[in-house]
Amino acid sequence: MAGRRGLSAINLTFLGTASAQPSLTRNHSALALRLNSDVWLFDCGEATQHQIQKSTVRMGKIEKIFITHTHGDHIFGLLPLLASMMNGAGGTANGIEDPRAHGVQDSSDPIEIYGPLGTRAYIRNGLKYTHTLLGAPYVVHELRLPSDPPDGDYTSLALHASESPNGRNILQTNGVWSDVYHDAIVSVSAAPILHSVPCVGYVVTEAPVPGKMDPAKYKPHLKRTNTPMSVMSRLQQGESIELSDGIILQGPPRRPGRKLVILGDTYDPSPIAELALSADLLIHEATNAHLPVLDSNTKAEDTFESVEERTKSRGHSTPQMAGAFAAQIGARQLVLNHFSARYPGNDHVDPTAKTIMEAIARLAGEHYSGTITCARDFMSFDVKEHV
Ligand SMILES: [Zn+2]
Ligand SMILES: [Zn+2]
Repeated sequence: MAGRRGLSAINLTFLGTASAQPSLTRNHSALALRLNSDVWLFDCGEATQHQIQKSTVRMGKIEKIFITHTHGDHIFGLLPLLASMMNGAGGTANGIEDPRAHGVQDSSDPIEIYGPLGTRAYIRNGLKYTHTLLGAPYVVHELRLPSDPPDGDYTSLALHASESPNGRNILQTNGVWSDVYHDAIVSVSAAPILHSVPCVGYVVTEAPVPGKMDPAKYKPHLKRTNTPMSVMSRLQQGESIELSDGIILQGPPRRPGRKLVILGDTYDPSPIAELALSADLLIHEATNAHLPVLDSNTKAEDTFESVEERTKSRGHSTPQMAGAFAAQIGARQLVLNHFSARYPGNDHVDPTAKTIMEAIARLAGEHYSGTITCARDFMSFDVKEHV
């Protein structure tokens, strides 16, 4: 992230909010995080590139892709997206080598992809057997569990021509993957969360930001001692300045940066709880809910308990479970995501969407008193700075 001197805008755009099956109103999982103008993608379900085309997210600005787990509804869109982003091609008819086969020799920084074991094999095998050439390099860093085989990565294929050999296998320390990426402005850590297959939750943390400055507090001192007003920018950064009369001015203390917790599918995210503490924003799945009057698919024998038990047994959460976790970590804001195809996501297409989403938010609110929002496709908002 060289050249990005400081963050002011953090924007989230939901590109897909469906669980197992997409619907008319919800595409498979993908979320774009915009850090100023850079784009990081979290998951890349089928047709994510189509969703990007319909949104204000710019495909060419994607720098990193974080995969939560290798279930198809979170990764099936990755290969076509890479092919489009990186000027992919399918070879030449006359057998003359296509220069796009040599993406790894491209001088640009590789697109970085993070995910659990299997991510690298999925991409390498998929590119190989679809004869896909890429015009730019990529690299895959895998977040390895202690139970993963220490050697190998589920593929015996050699590196793809566009794959950088610098992909890391990142091991846990104290049960988490700390600082899998960091620069001066932002860092990413991760931890496993419990699902039916290995699954990862990501925590994106902004570095501490300059405190609020009250110029009136400093100006008289600067004038009195003929100190150039330009030192204000140093004070703003939290520095202390000694004036010619010996008085020391101390800039305002830095404030904590914003913290975003982006979870994949889960029936119990507790291994990430400590990393996620005091998040400004938690994105948590709520695949199924018990909505006896509103949801015509409700079975007569269903109860809250039976729906929760069934949801958990499939590796997923109810809104109440999401709300309870938001309360546990003291999150300021909760966004519910990854809904069953039976819950429509757009009022204009299905007039029941609003009523059902409000009911789902109320269920999460049984355990959580912060702001609750139900994600829908193309929902986009800025994460506010601390005041
Ligand atoms: Zn899923
Ligand atoms: Zn899943």
